[in-house]
Amino acid sequence: PDYLNPEPEPPAVHTKTPDVDVDPAAEAEKVVIGFSMDTLLEERWLKDRDLFKEEVEKLGAVVDVMAANGDDALQIVQAETLISRGVDLLVVVPHNAEAMAMIVHKAHAAGIKVLAYDRLIRNASVDMYISFDNEEVGELQAQAITALVPRGKYAYIGGAETDNNALLLKKGVFNVLQPFIERGDITVVYDQWTEDWETAKARDNIKAALDANGNDIDAVIAANDATANEVILELAARGLAGRVPVAGQDADLTAAKRIVEGTQTMTVYKPIHSMAEAAAAIAVKMARNQPVTSNRMMSNGQLGVPSLLLTPIAVNRQTMDDTIIADGFHLRSEVYGTE
Ligand code: BGC
Repeated sequence: PDYLNPEPEPPAVHTKTPDVDVDPAAEAEKVVIGFSMDTLLEERWLKDRDLFKEEVEKLGAVVDVMAANGDDALQIVQAETLISRGVDLLVVVPHNAEAMAMIVHKAHAAGIKVLAYDRLIRNASVDMYISFDNEEVGELQAQAITALVPRGKYAYIGGAETDNNALLLKKGVFNVLQPFIERGDITVVYDQWTEDWETAKARDNIKAALDANGNDIDAVIAANDATANEVILELAARGLAGRVPVAGQDADLTAAKRIVEGTQTMTVYKPIHSMAEAAAAIAVKMARNQPVTSNRMMSNGQLGVPSLLLTPIAVNRQTMDDTIIADGFHLRSEVYGTE
């Protein structure tokens, strides 16, 4: 598809002043993409930042990045700063899906379009959304775990309720669990959000789940690998690591290692480089007021937002080499701890 192979702009032809290599007029017109990020405190978001920047630069534009490390008020101030600096497009990873709606209004008032990156902004007229199919992420997790544990007690450790992705992930998980629940084969004995995706909150959740059930839980689905890490640490503290299947997502290096060791069952790999590349192509086109291609419409509570959703990939011990490692997402030596 064309979004995976963005055509670079033809190089500018310099007809005069051959002694300077930058044409001041072209430089002044250089597209600037504002990138307002929730956080850089998790492994995946550093990759998103670096790859997105790299891909945008390949297209002859630049990125102005600001990250709020989980602070809603700060993210709003930073996005306002990017708007006032006159960026040509605002790309946003919202910490809080509802709170960032006001930024969409402000950007539009300044004539700047908004691309929601990975997480949708709710209840605002977002121009475009790019992500992976998050409902499918949840389905992949639950399919993998129900194949191993078709009967028993399940705990669901969700993501942040303020993140639209967390709602989609949970929907996907329960799409798969529902028929098992209806047959009486699976009982969900614990189901909680993890406020702000905070690892300490995830730890509290899994402790509460195990305590309430006298450690008798047969499987855990965790909304991401950082959350799964807490689940596995707590299982280990109770001598249960490796005995209770656990699902996560993000293909974090630590999760890939746990899968090889046998304490985590699976993760969901989302090739960030594909998303960064597609997002860069879309962002530069939007900044230049050119049309972009979408493949879905995602409702954000106010309207259907034209969206490009990429496909997530389930990874377990058997498929590790052919997915995460074959793709160069992590080195084999890092994952297996060998050279
Ligand atoms: C992302 C996940 C990430 C989580 C916590 C979600 O919106 O899709 O990849 O693990 O946020 O940062």
